[in-house]
This record gives sequence, structure tokens and C-alpha cells, in this order.
Amino acid sequence: MKKYTTSRIFIVSFLILIAGLPKAVSAQANEVSIAAVGDINLGGRVQNFIRQKGLFYPIARLKPLLTSTDITFGNLECALSSRGQPVAGKEFTFCGQPENVKTLKAGGFDIVSVANNHSKDFGETAFLDTLETLEASRVRFVGGGKNLQAAVNPVIIKKSGLNIAFLAFSGILPYGWSATDIKPGVASLRNATLVKEKIRVAKSKADLVIVSLHWGVELQSQPLKEQKELARQLIDVGATAIIGHHPHVLQPIEVYKNGLIAYSLGNFIFTPGSPAGSKSALLHLKLDKYGLSSFKVWPVKITSAQPAVASGKTAQEIRSFLRKQFNLEPGRLNSTGEALSFYTFRYQKKTVFKKLARSYFIF
Ligand SMILES: [Zn+2]
Repeated sequence: MKKYTTSRIFIVSFLILIAGLPKAVSAQANEVSIAAVGDINLGGRVQNFIRQKGLFYPIARLKPLLTSTDITFGNLECALSSRGQPVAGKEFTFCGQPENVKTLKAGGFDIVSVANNHSKDFGETAFLDTLETLEASRVRFVGGGKNLQAAVNPVIIKKSGLNIAFLAFSGILPYGWSATDIKPGVASLRNATLVKEKIRVAKSKADLVIVSLHWGVELQSQPLKEQKELARQLIDVGATAIIGHHPHVLQPIEVYKNGLIAYSLGNFIFTPGSPAGSKSALLHLKLDKYGLSSFKVWPVKITSAQPAVASGKTAQEIRSFLRKQFNLEPGRLNSTGEALSFYTFRYQKKTVFKKLARSYFIF
């Protein structure tokens, strides 16, 4: 009897002990990987390249990096339709053929943002055609829809046992482009209170929230002070990563609390109007349910509408620009031993406890 009591005390004590341990320490958190890029234009002069060189030409050189992650995201900066006319009074209007959606499919794009200042370039019918084309090809879209609710609701993708919510807003919007209760259109960034509320709601439904923002000043290499403040506030209310674009040039990438802010990833599939616009980046994020685990930035150069991993002087320039923002360490060769040059910003929690306390260190 005594023996039985002793072992029972031992078992109970043991159960109390393991129950008292934080769950996160005993189990490795699931991770999801996301590839993110900036502006994708499949109309305008890119359409000419596609006509000459084929639908797969724009993604031919980066396909392995785009398709190696669980989720691939980009900003679709054009309409895809065979109908409509360029809207009056707009200097640049982009609309590609519906079949160009195959370029996105071949690039592994799971989801694109349509919250930008080009998705309605050929009018409302072409905008709705774009959404239908994406839907029919099973490329999810976010930041636009048949009405306001559809435009501002999150798209939730489940991968690796995690629910990842995507939201997208545009701060650059021609008059009348915003979705309303009865009108198709895109989600506006102008009402910051609504944006924060949507992030809070998304965070209550999902483990991670990725927010795409089409914003900033064209051709500026730094974000505005107001952008920095807003981006950090959005992380404070539940965003895990802010993926910015529109300036057509690369801007800093920053780690804030458990999240990441890429102010502008620049162009991706585009015919840049300046040498600075041909420098870009491809971002690989690794996230677990606590937020950012690690990330890599691949320097990219766009030549004749085709992005590729940058080399030589261009790669050096992109690296030194990003290095100014952070103590960026040169990356190691990847696991397959390819001599690709890239940077690794690698942040890792000292322990899960530390990460919960929002503390990182760099190794
Ligand atoms: Zn734009």
C-alpha cells in the first residue's frame, strides 16, 4: 500500500511538472514558408515580350525560387481581360490577355493582390474579368472584389497546420476606384481605423496575417515617416508581415517585434523606366505561429521584363543598400550547392520563451 502511494505521488508530481512546462518548449512549432515579390505587370510592354517569347518567359529564371515555398505572393499591377478600354486621363494603363494568367500559374503564384492603381485601368468590366480569370485558374486574389466586403475580407490559406490570412490595401487610388457596398473595386488604405480593424479580425481567425500595401512615393528609396509609423502600428494590432510595393524601386526591409516590414519590393515582372527600377528583391519568409522565424532576401535584376537573381555589381549595390538598414550578413550557399549569391537576415529566438517576449538575436 505504501509502495502504491509513493508511486502515485511520483506520477502525480510528474504530471504536475510537465503540465507546468510551457507547451511551446516541448514541441517544435510548425513553419510555413512564403515567397513574396513586388509589382507584376502582364500588360503594357510586358505583353509584347510575352507575344514574342512566350508565356513562361517572364518567370523562366526565377521559377525555382518562386515555387520552392509553401505560398507565393505578388502584386498584380494590371488587368487581365480581352475587353474594355484604357480609362481616360491616365498616363499608364496596363491590361494583359487573360491567358497571361498562365505566367502566374507557372510561377507558382497562389495569391495576388489587386489593391493597386492599375487593376481597373481598362474599366470595371475588365476588372471583373480579371477576378474571374484568376478564380478560374485557382489563383486567389485579395484587396479587390465585387463590393467593399469582398475587397476587405481576408483570404485564408491553410498550410503546414497554420492558417495564414492575407489582406491587401492600396493607398494610391484614382478617384472612384474604391469598392463600395454596391460597387466593385479595390480596398483603400486611406481609412487606417478600418485597416486595423480588418487586421484584428483576421488575426482572430488565423495564426498569421500577411498585409500587402500598395503605397509610398514613386522612385523614392526611403519610406515616409508616416509609412513607418503606420506599418509598425499594423504589426502592433496583429500583422505578421507587411509586403509593400508601388514606388518601383527597392526600399528598406525592417524587423519590428515579431514581424517584418518590406516597405517596397520594387518591380518584379515589369519593364522599368530607370536603372534603379531594374533592381528588385525576392523575399523568402519563414513563419511559425509566433511570427517571423527567419527570412532571406535574394537580390534581383530585371532585364527585358525578365527578373533573375542579380550578380556582380548590381547584386553588390542591392546588398549594400539593404545592409545599410541592417547588419546583413552574406548568405551561405544554399543546400543544393548552387553558387547563388544572396543575403540572409537570420533572426532566431534564443528560446521559445524569449520569442514570446518578442526578443530576437542575430547569429
Ligand atoms: Zn502602383
